Amino acid sequence: MHHVQQLINGQFVDSNTSEWIDITDPATQEVIAKVPQTTDDEINQAVAAAQAAFQTWRKTPITTRARIFLKYQALIREHMDELAEILTAEQGKTIADARGDVFRGLEVVEHAAGIANLQMGDFVENVASNVDTYSIWQPLGVCAGITPFNFPAMIPLWMFPMAIATGNTFILKPSEQDPMVTMRLVELAVEAGVPEGVLNVVHGGKPTVDAICDHPDIKAVSFVGSTAVGKHVYERASQSGKRAQCMMGAKNHAVILPDANKEQTLNQLAGAAFGAAGQRCMALSVVVLVGAAGDWIDEIKAKAEGLVVSAGKNDKDLGPLISPAAKDRVERLIGTGVEEGASLILDGRGITVEGFEKGNFVGPTIFDNVTSEMQIYQQEIFGPVLCIMRADSLDEAIALLNDNPNGNGTAIFTQSGAAAHRFQQDVQVGQIGINLPIPVPLPMFSFSGSRASKLGDLGPYGKQAVQFYTQTKTVTARWFDDEASRGKVNTTISM
Ligand code: NAD
Repeated sequence: MHHVQQLINGQFVDSNTSEWIDITDPATQEVIAKVPQTTDDEINQAVAAAQAAFQTWRKTPITTRARIFLKYQALIREHMDELAEILTAEQGKTIADARGDVFRGLEVVEHAAGIANLQMGDFVENVASNVDTYSIWQPLGVCAGITPFNFPAMIPLWMFPMAIATGNTFILKPSEQDPMVTMRLVELAVEAGVPEGVLNVVHGGKPTVDAICDHPDIKAVSFVGSTAVGKHVYERASQSGKRAQCMMGAKNHAVILPDANKEQTLNQLAGAAFGAAGQRCMALSVVVLVGAAGDWIDEIKAKAEGLVVSAGKNDKDLGPLISPAAKDRVERLIGTGVEEGASLILDGRGITVEGFEKGNFVGPTIFDNVTSEMQIYQQEIFGPVLCIMRADSLDEAIALLNDNPNGNGTAIFTQSGAAAHRFQQDVQVGQIGINLPIPVPLPMFSFSGSRASKLGDLGPYGKQAVQFYTQTKTVTARWFDDEASRGKVNTTISM
């Protein structure tokens, strides 16, 4: 049985723990590896290694740091097929989607290779006579990242490349449900030249997360995961004086106006509602049909019925949910929807997939006539379940979205530039797609979920991540020439 290792001070090491967590193939329930609940002592060793490495890493030339990421991006490309295969085995998503997961992380690595252009300070000459002021963006020290199960390649790569490129050292805590692809990416980072102690990996669940939040030598924590845990991490890390950013749960609405291109819109809606079995923080889990678009129900259902559910390695349309517990929860919520009076027009419960009878499969599921009081609307289901709602006008749809506390993503489908512009301006959601279902920005921007989907001002990757992982130091300097030395005491605040 494979035992997942930790990375402490440049060494891949086994844990001394007595507590091991099973990693299972979600399509078969076969235990494919075990991951340790890292001990307190091992967490302390990892932080001490990161603290020691910071003393030299922060002074390592920025060009040297950048070159590691040039090599790293090449290694990730070279190992793309292997990474996707590992990811699918432990996470369950299709091979094509697993490659997408790696690729969206790779884009951040490419961006980190340009760090010298991103971490530039400011300089103003002659703020007073012969006085210059400049600001420098210095790394914080030891930073940490806590990641969810649904993007085990992309989300770790949102975090440690930018943190390390800016001169910090890092402690990564991957999801205990699928840490193996993350570990393979970490091995490649070491191969690319990340020095010992600069990147460390510890494992486990709540005990590790709480130890990270409390550790006095960790300066900043990046978290991506559910809302309940994100709030806990934000409060606990802030209480111990850390900078924290938490990207959390969602309930993303698509708004379809009757003038939208029907075929394109329905294809995009089905992909974003049911792809990855609905386990994306940017999945479209609610669709608001405006006016005559309310008649498109049969076509939406037909698109969903056309999707094939199978083990991820068979590379069909959607794979299993991550665990039996996740499947039970999704099926229970579907039951709640029926009890609360929504119309279940497609039921994905109880499906079996030939050859994978023990898999955590739920097929595409659609509820019509959903209202905002229902549990299926109020909770993030995180499964392949689409809730259909209706509105008489765009204004009514916007009001509905703004009443929902979440603000991760939304998409409008229309041919009207004016309608799209109004939507973009008035809707209180951080990431908006116009005729585009999953508007996750590329790393020249930053992930910008908002309201209940985010705590902390700065998002991961891109420009905001450079700010998150650095602190500004401002220097005001005067160099006297010989003449100027004949001054007198100045007791005012003027320079
Ligand atoms: P999760 O909150 O259960 O786990 C996230 C991390 O927190 C894991 O590393 C886990 O070990 C740790 N953790 C779990 N329970 C904990 C507890 N009680 N105390 C302390 N730490 C704990 O999330 P998940 O199920 O792995 O991921 C799915 C969630 O993540 C969804 O809600 C999804 O919307 C969200 N998500 C958000 C974004 C975003 O950018 N907004 C991106 C991806 C996923």
